[in-house]
Amino acid sequence: MSARKGPGGPAEPAGDAGAAAIEIRGLRKSFGDNEVLSGIDFHVDAGEVVCVIGPSGSGKSTLLRCVNLLEEPSAGTVRVAGAEVTDPDIDIDAARRRIGMVFQSFNLFPHLTALGNVTIAQRKVLKRDRAEAERVARANLERVGLADKVAEYPGRLSGGQQQRVAIARALAMDPRVMLFDEPTSALDPELVGDVLGVMRELAEDGMTMLVVTHEMSFAREVADRVVFMDGGVVVEEGPPSRVLDDPEHERTRTFLARVL
Ligand code: ADP
Ligand code: MG
Repeated sequence: MSARKGPGGPAEPAGDAGAAAIEIRGLRKSFGDNEVLSGIDFHVDAGEVVCVIGPSGSGKSTLLRCVNLLEEPSAGTVRVAGAEVTDPDIDIDAARRRIGMVFQSFNLFPHLTALGNVTIAQRKVLKRDRAEAERVARANLERVGLADKVAEYPGRLSGGQQQRVAIARALAMDPRVMLFDEPTSALDPELVGDVLGVMRELAEDGMTMLVVTHEMSFAREVADRVVFMDGGVVVEEGPPSRVLDDPEHERTRTFLARVL
């Protein structure tokens, strides 16, 4: 399933098949004098799940935000599904449409039902008609286990249910990749499992996923690779069993000793 490929040349057309789903090269990001990302290189192949772990402030959220252009990188390139999203001439809206993003805070519209929340961007951005958008919304709400909640408003849903609506909302846009930024960090512990269960099913269905998480058991069981970041660099990466059980670097060991 994973189509590995070397660095693509500059003439590579947008959206070609076979490229790494996400390819990050020499990525740097500064806020004023504060360099938060100091040269990040890694890739996520199609169908792969890569978990990013690391201490607070190490640049994990900034990394994800550079991948979907919520932040403008200071240097380096990011490619998603073969298209260079850091190309200044790219259609940013088209590029973002390839990327589903799920944040710690779910940011649902409180005045719309679950169905309305999953429908609205399909209609406004993808210009789907109401019937089609609702059909897709229902299918995705069913996929995240909320078939019986389509008519419910966010205020009447648990945090875990709201986060699953947010996942359905992202999936309804037919993303090529899904980015998750600590999707369970804001949830009560008893609600975490349902959200991780949905993410695990997505992974099993072959979705390409880049997941920032502190859930080490999820990383261990679901990730194809784990990337450990500290101080704006990738300290090490590899299969979960290697990085989590037998890390090469002292910084990784120190971090794991705190969280495991
Ligand atoms: P993590 O997600 O690993 O906790 P972040 O990417 O959120 O780390 O933050 C890394 C560093 O970048 C922090 O020092 C943070 O204060 C800084 N930072 C993040 N976003 C901004 C911003 N918009 N403006 C200034 N500094 C920022
Ligand atoms: Mg963060």
